[in-house]
Amino acid sequence: MQFFKKYAYVYLLVLILVWACSSLVSESVTVVSTAFETPTVPPITVVVDPGHGGEDGGAVSCSGVTESGLNLQIGTRLKDLLLFLGIQTRMTRETDISLHSPGAETISEKKVSDLKNRVQLVQNTEHAILVSIHQNYFTEEKYSGAQVFYAPTPGSTALARTVQNTLRSSLDPLNHREAKESLTVYLMKKITCPGILVECGFLSNVREEQNLRSSAYQKQLACAIAGGMQAYLTQTSDPDPHEREVYE
Ligand SMILES: [Zn+2]
Repeated sequence: MQFFKKYAYVYLLVLILVWACSSLVSESVTVVSTAFETPTVPPITVVVDPGHGGEDGGAVSCSGVTESGLNLQIGTRLKDLLLFLGIQTRMTRETDISLHSPGAETISEKKVSDLKNRVQLVQNTEHAILVSIHQNYFTEEKYSGAQVFYAPTPGSTALARTVQNTLRSSLDPLNHREAKESLTVYLMKKITCPGILVECGFLSNVREEQNLRSSAYQKQLACAIAGGMQAYLTQTSDPDPHEREVYE
C-alpha cells in the first residue's frame, strides 16, 4: 500500500509539472505572438478587369489581334501573380464574354449594361482596388509605351504613379509617359475606391504589338503591375488605402 501511495505522489508531481510547463509555454507563445502582431489590416481585394470581351473586342492590332483577348491574357497573369504575393483578387471576367445583363439587345445597350455591371461588381467588393487592363491604339504608328490612368478617388494617383514607375524601370526606361487622370472612362468616373487603368502599349506600333502578343513580355508586364501594386500597399503605415491621400 505504501508502495502505491509513493507512486501516486510521483504521478501527481509529474502531472503538476506538465501543467506548469504547458501554461508557461502557452504564456510565452502569447507574449511572442503579441510582440509580432501586425496592426489589423482590412483585407484588400484587387479587382482585375480585363477590358472589353465578347462582341466588344476593343481595338484591333496591326496584325489583326483583338484587344479583348490580350487584356484577358495579361489580366489572368496579373491575377496569378497577385495571388502568389498573398493579395486577394477578383476578376470581372475570366473568359471571352461581355458582362451585359440579359435585357440588353443592341450593341450600344450591351456596352452600357456591361460597363454598369463592371462598376457594380467593383462597388460590391469590400476594400476594393481596381486595375483595369487595356491596350492603346493610335492612327500614327510611331507612338509606343505603357501609360497608367487613374480615377479621381483617394489613393488612385499614388497607385498610378507607383505602377507607372515600375513599368518604366522594368520594361522600358525610355518610356517617359506620366501617370494621368482619366477624365472620360466611365468605369474610372463611377467607382469610389482607388482605381487605375493600365494601357499596356500601342497595338498600332508594330514592335510593341509583337511584344504584347508574346507570353514573355506579358509576364514582364504582369510582374511590373503586380510589383507596383505591392509597393503601393506597403509604402505607407496606414493600412487602409481608402483613407490615404499620400502624394496627392
Ligand atoms: Zn480598351
